[in-house]
Amino acid sequence: MGHLVCGELSLAALRRYAGGIMTTTQHIFDTTIVTCVDNDPVVLKNHSIILEANVITRVGPTNDVERELASRSDIERFDGSHHVVIPGLINTHHHLYQSLTRGLACVQNAELFDWLTELYTRWRNLSHDTVKLAAQVSIGELLLSGCTTTSDHFYIFPQNTDVRVESVLEAANSLGMRIHVCRGSMSVGQSNGGLPPDDCVQDEQEILADCARAVDSFHDADPMSMVRVDLAPCSPFSISPELLRETAVFARERGVLLHTHAAETLDEERYCLERFGKRPIDYLAECDWLGDDVYLAHCVHLSNDDIKLLAKTKTGVAHCPCSNMRLGSGVPAIPQLLREGVRVGLGVDGSSSNDGGHVLAEARQAMLLQRVGGGAAVMTTADAFRIATIGGAQLLGRKTLGRIAPGFAADMAMYRTDDIALAGAVAQDPLAALMLCHVGRADRVYVNGQVVVNEGRLTMQDERKLALDLNQIVAKQFR
Ligand SMILES: [Zn+2]
Repeated sequence: MGHLVCGELSLAALRRYAGGIMTTTQHIFDTTIVTCVDNDPVVLKNHSIILEANVITRVGPTNDVERELASRSDIERFDGSHHVVIPGLINTHHHLYQSLTRGLACVQNAELFDWLTELYTRWRNLSHDTVKLAAQVSIGELLLSGCTTTSDHFYIFPQNTDVRVESVLEAANSLGMRIHVCRGSMSVGQSNGGLPPDDCVQDEQEILADCARAVDSFHDADPMSMVRVDLAPCSPFSISPELLRETAVFARERGVLLHTHAAETLDEERYCLERFGKRPIDYLAECDWLGDDVYLAHCVHLSNDDIKLLAKTKTGVAHCPCSNMRLGSGVPAIPQLLREGVRVGLGVDGSSSNDGGHVLAEARQAMLLQRVGGGAAVMTTADAFRIATIGGAQLLGRKTLGRIAPGFAADMAMYRTDDIALAGAVAQDPLAALMLCHVGRADRVYVNGQVVVNEGRLTMQDERKLALDLNQIVAKQFR
């Protein structure tokens, strides 16, 4: 695959890329599968998975599958007897560019508003090249954890820079990640009572024009698409109610999803009460921003009525436990949201507020966070697995992601059963091993039928070079 430069990326190019997958039939045999059937995880031992190009076509006991395939000689075989295979994990909230300011000393102990105010002064220096490199690092880290689809909430387009959604799309393309790029936006700067500096916000007509360009150029509604474009004004304290409403109208005309931050901190709640006379979820409802085409990051500070409203409107929640802990934002009521039938997915959030992009570790953290104060039964390993797989797929409106079953995309993560970190547990209960133990790297990861991680290394980029290049740029420009 050729290197794509800014300006050359097109939907046609991305489709070619999505079509550049192995065309052979692949057979993973004698393996252990953990996947949800209906709503519950099951463990299938001595099983086989057949991939035809980018789709799973058969899952069954290896003995049966071997018999069916006896006459075929054109099949590539992979011995999965030392692996547990799960559906590729789905990350529903991230800011991939933030690896540029990961671990920044002056905000290590800051809460959201102070953290943002300091970071805007670094982010105003973003460029296409720095965003692309940072996104490659963040995506590489996600893939190595077993994540195969990520959403990226990319909301900062500083004035007089060449930053565009292509910066992120080129990064995803270069590593083989399936992506929902959320064309974000900020329009209310400090001089108008917002939080971001004026040179980090854009004119609202310019924003809407670029949202239209991004959707027209890159959004692919195909069930197996590698790229979708969602629209994502940043937050109540950086966007006007008019832009929120106009974005929703436009997204619904084009059939794309809506995403934003909501009810993350008590500072945000105070801001909404002072400026709009309403708490965040009521404010979003007033702007026509609830529905089955909306997913909201965080939702930490919800009333019982808010939760009922999210359930009634089928609005989704992207839960980001590490970020909520890192910024001291609070503990969202995930068990209650799940009980009430709210759609919940999992997100690692940006690399400056987590600061690790390991989706399996995030699922474990989600479960452990609820057990602090809630008791050990409040969130189970099955709950954690669900939100990291089928929950994320539901949030992103992807009916062919999140399970290992015929007709689903060939997106899978394989972890070695001879990894010392899983030893013992994996012989007891493979699901529990993945959710309770400290899991390092996935050994082999497939996205769209293509092997993007092999023997624990990225196959499409040199990860050491990415890391060293990022270190160099951070040391020079982002400290
Ligand atoms: Zn975020």
